[in-house]
Amino acid sequence: MAEKFASRRNIDFLINEVFNVVSLNRFPYFEDHDEETFKMILDTAMNISTDLMFPYFKEMDTNTPYWEDGKVHVHKAIVPFLKEMGEGGWIQCEKPYDIGGQQLPLTIKELAYFLFGAANYSMHVYPMLTAGAANLIYQYGAQEMQDMYLEKMYSGKWQGTMALTEPDIGSSLGDLTTTAEPTDQGYYMIKGQKIFISAGNSDITENVVHLLIARLKDGPLGVPGISLFIVPEKRINENGELEDNDVQCGGIEHKLGYRGSPICQLTFGEEKNCRGWLVGELGKGLAQMFKMMNEERINIGIGAISKISAAYYAALEYAQQRKQGRKPDQKDPATPMVELIEHADIKRMLLFQKAVMEGSLALALQLSLYQDLAMVGQDPEENEMLVDFLIPILKTYPSEMGILATSAAIQIHGGYGYCGDFPVEQYYRDIRIDPIHEGTTGIQGQDILGRKVSMKKGKAFELYINEVEKAIAEAKAYPELEKQVEALESAMGLMKDLTAELLAKKAQISNEAFLADSVLYLDFMSQIAVAWQWLKLMTVSVTALKGQPTDQDRVFYQGKIYAGRYFFDYELTKIDSLAIRLRSDDKVTVEITKEFFED
Ligand SMILES: Cc1cc2nc3c(=O)[nH]c(=O)nc-3n(C[C@H](O)[C@H](O)[C@H](O)COP(=O)(O)OP(=O)(O)OC[C@H]3O[C@@H](n4cnc5c(N)ncnc54)[C@H](O)[C@@H]3O)c2cc1C
Repeated sequence: MAEKFASRRNIDFLINEVFNVVSLNRFPYFEDHDEETFKMILDTAMNISTDLMFPYFKEMDTNTPYWEDGKVHVHKAIVPFLKEMGEGGWIQCEKPYDIGGQQLPLTIKELAYFLFGAANYSMHVYPMLTAGAANLIYQYGAQEMQDMYLEKMYSGKWQGTMALTEPDIGSSLGDLTTTAEPTDQGYYMIKGQKIFISAGNSDITENVVHLLIARLKDGPLGVPGISLFIVPEKRINENGELEDNDVQCGGIEHKLGYRGSPICQLTFGEEKNCRGWLVGELGKGLAQMFKMMNEERINIGIGAISKISAAYYAALEYAQQRKQGRKPDQKDPATPMVELIEHADIKRMLLFQKAVMEGSLALALQLSLYQDLAMVGQDPEENEMLVDFLIPILKTYPSEMGILATSAAIQIHGGYGYCGDFPVEQYYRDIRIDPIHEGTTGIQGQDILGRKVSMKKGKAFELYINEVEKAIAEAKAYPELEKQVEALESAMGLMKDLTAELLAKKAQISNEAFLADSVLYLDFMSQIAVAWQWLKLMTVSVTALKGQPTDQDRVFYQGKIYAGRYFFDYELTKIDSLAIRLRSDDKVTVEITKEFFED
């Protein structure tokens, strides 16, 4: 099995040369950090990934969790990993010192999480979900709630989940049916069923803390009726002991991939004894839950990039080892066969994976940097708007492209890639969930076209345009990048015109017609956002090449320029055909009705 799942050199390039993350220490919150502390943290993350996670990547796919007598039994390799997560403070490392955090930039935390995901995504999901659930309690929970839960969750002893989905309610969360009935004891009685709850039950943590959305009994229909609750699997009684809270796990699903982590069917209140505690305000549950969902959408995007990275390095290793055929101009059968990596078509597939992976990772860091700046009060409104605007792109682009990228990794392996001896078929199966959970691609498409481009009277869109134009202006100093600068300038012109046309048409057509091709619009926007990041990566690389790089660094920067050239020529060019379709008034998907699909 391939040994490399991510490039440490690329990570250093991103934090030091592209995003200058260390400059965040000009803000008091981050002042204790410098390049050395970042290096140490990422070295440790790499060691954890290599020693505690990667060795179990395949094994956890084979020895999957199983349900027996109401309990889910999971792979025991997760235990030392969770202990390490707790003791090393990885779950709350971006939080303030006074609650046990390390005041680390999210930019660095996300890179550590990227490494964890690349090494073993099924294992990584446990602390990732706990971090998201704990963040909700931290942001909206009363002080006594924080005192009761956070320390246990940060230590990795109590697992956190997000409990949204129900058997009949997935994307349409406003229609959910789980109920919460107020009592005069300060808690609510919870009743209902949730399904597909990741890490929702296991035999390795003392307790599971569900962050659950439910409808106030007899409350209004739709979103205003929904509130957020903490519903622990075991509640703390008056004596400070854990007692059963009437949360039952009725089984787990058998899945295509991401098999090391169970998704659970949970019943709340079957014995009419399930208590939940309101988090934040009544009726604001969905809005508050969006805090966690947005965080998880970013995590899903980064998790997809992780899997693309691991599959890419596996394919690269194979392409360098396997010999097959000769170059098209070499006709002599007496000459030795060449390594796969000598073939242009193999290089095309490797370039595709590299371009998608590294461009997306840069986009992920760009978002984290906006979050870090917002957190320390640097233009918070603007930075938060940029994050909000870009979330559907970061969630979707690596998830959807990742299916193609991991498929290319299989293709490079030929028949061996389709078989279990090599890891790439697992990456392909593992990544398939990413366009589905945390809001499907369809929902993300509606989000960007239906909400984000016109959000705050188009302010977020305008801010985004300024950001891309800044990168273009910087790249203009380099004649070597003239072609890419022109391509991105033209893409931005097209984006502005097309978006204005679509928004102008909105008033004349139904909402259904307006949103019918929103996924194509999201694809269009994603290609441009990743091209923006590639232009930045290329600008830094061209600058570095003008210095006196070592031979090894020269190759590194030239590799970036090749991948950037690939992205602009092979990927960004797709926006023209997308624009043709998006401009079309032929609404075939709206017109056709169900009878025409028969036969
Ligand atoms: C491995 C895994 C892990 C998960 N983890 C969790 C978890 O931890 N917590 C949790 O709460 N849930 C979890 N889920 C559930 C997941 O979030 C849902 O599966 C997802 O939100 C989609 O809901 P659904 O499956 O009901 O599909 P549906 O909502 O039925 O959607 C089916 C299809 O219809 C489309 N569609 C739906 N509505 C519309 C519409 N209005 N307009 C256009 N198209 C539409 C969708 O885009 C999709 O293509 C998990 C699921 C899986 C498989």
